[in-house]
Amino acid sequence: MSTPQRIIVVGAGLAGLTTAVRLVDAGHEVTVLESAGVVGGRTADWDEDGMQVETGLHRYLGFYTKLPRLLRHVGLKVSDVVVWRDEIAFRVADGGPSALFSASLIRHPVRTAVRALKHRDFLPLRQRGAMVRMLAAGSVAYLLRPTKLDQVPIADYARGHGVSQQTVDRLIAPLTAGLFFVPPDKFSAHNLMGVVVPYWRSLIKTGVGAFSGGMTEVMSGPIAEYVRKKGGTVHVNTRVQSLVGDANGITGVRVHDKVLEADQVVVATSLGPAKALIDSALEGHEWFDDMRRMESTPSVCFQAETDVPSTAEDTATFTPGTEMGCFAEQSRTTFSHLDGRISVIMATPKTHADSTTEELTETVITEARRVGVDLRGHIRRARKVGISDDFYSLECGNDPLRPAQHTPIPGLTLAGDYTQQKYLATMEGAVQSGELAARAILKEER
Ligand SMILES: Cc1cc2nc3c(=O)[nH]c(=O)nc-3n(C[C@H](O)[C@H](O)[C@H](O)COP(=O)(O)OP(=O)(O)OC[C@H]3O[C@@H](n4cnc5c(N)ncnc54)[C@H](O)[C@@H]3O)c2cc1C
Repeated sequence: MSTPQRIIVVGAGLAGLTTAVRLVDAGHEVTVLESAGVVGGRTADWDEDGMQVETGLHRYLGFYTKLPRLLRHVGLKVSDVVVWRDEIAFRVADGGPSALFSASLIRHPVRTAVRALKHRDFLPLRQRGAMVRMLAAGSVAYLLRPTKLDQVPIADYARGHGVSQQTVDRLIAPLTAGLFFVPPDKFSAHNLMGVVVPYWRSLIKTGVGAFSGGMTEVMSGPIAEYVRKKGGTVHVNTRVQSLVGDANGITGVRVHDKVLEADQVVVATSLGPAKALIDSALEGHEWFDDMRRMESTPSVCFQAETDVPSTAEDTATFTPGTEMGCFAEQSRTTFSHLDGRISVIMATPKTHADSTTEELTETVITEARRVGVDLRGHIRRARKVGISDDFYSLECGNDPLRPAQHTPIPGLTLAGDYTQQKYLATMEGAVQSGELAARAILKEER
């Protein structure tokens, strides 16, 4: 590196923090500006009127490679950040079957193999065969014909491979709607395979982890601390109002009505704020047209402290046929100081976007009852956490619209899970986007 550049990173989510780590390592003067009161973005926790809340239920998947590498790089041990739970449950509403699958060939090989063959009332053997055939064909198509696969909804693709509607409803809908808020008749087959293919590639490393504490406390905070120790600056409560510059180059950002100059600006926000910032200086610039056409979806989560645990273990549980996408009891893992702590991701966030906490509490109590969880009379306090512009939509046709990190505008780079990287809207994807953004800047200076 010849001279250190002044680099402003907008957003202290995993993408922005990863970019900052790589750029302070390279000796640049990095300033991270975050509008929220804590770092972490969608992987954050904070105190809300005395209750510790988080953006929403998160699971760390064992096949991630970039996130664990980043954690080790900043001096964290994965085992301090994550408590392995390695189980996924399904409970079909109103007395339907339930199933408990294990997900770790390393830690529980026998249990994982045995449980894969059990629960035939939930998923008959013939349907397992159809699912395996569909996943195998989809994985090949993902690698050979990704654009074509992105045009097909996963429900159609599955039915075309002999998967029954019941299996779509019980197994596929909970994953697409429960995790990414898009029903299977709209969710791109390409995107589902984007979750499956890395899983095949590192089958042995599968596993499901819960966080060992609040996500800012155990993960995002220490990453930001690393940036500070290496000479970078991280400001919270600092919203970037606009970019400064034009198509000939971005030269800074506007904060608190003042201009902060920079050699490089990395916009590392989620999709909605990124569109607004880009249009603040580059309205109508055609390179960003595809990105402008991408839609995003909101998320709505319910979190409550209870006087008893809602389930015996902290197991991520999908609840097909209910308003709840998935839930987990967290008093054995993330919030171990509490008697009980349930976290729920709502399956149709748009329906609940305007509900009050009281209304959402009633909905969750009713829906939880349908899958055998009794919350009535047990809730001490509850919060609704909504993010209006959360994931870029994983519907068919969106994937080719995702922008690269490198832009044609001098001084402007993008990062964030919606930018081009292989791991969809996940923590791993956010980290990869940050790595790619930093690489784009470092390559340019060579
Ligand atoms: C409910 C929920 C459940 C999830 N579950 C999982 C899971 O189980 N596993 C998994 O791997 N992933 C999960 N994810 C996805 C994962 O959290 C995200 O993909 C990832 O954290 C995105 O990181 P990011 O840095 O791209 O964006 P963000 O985390 O959104 O970071 C962007 C940051 O930019 C800031 N910002 C925005 N505008 C401005 C501005 N004008 N000025 C300054 N700052 C600004 C925001 O405040 C935010 O901090 C989940 C997400 C949610 C919401």
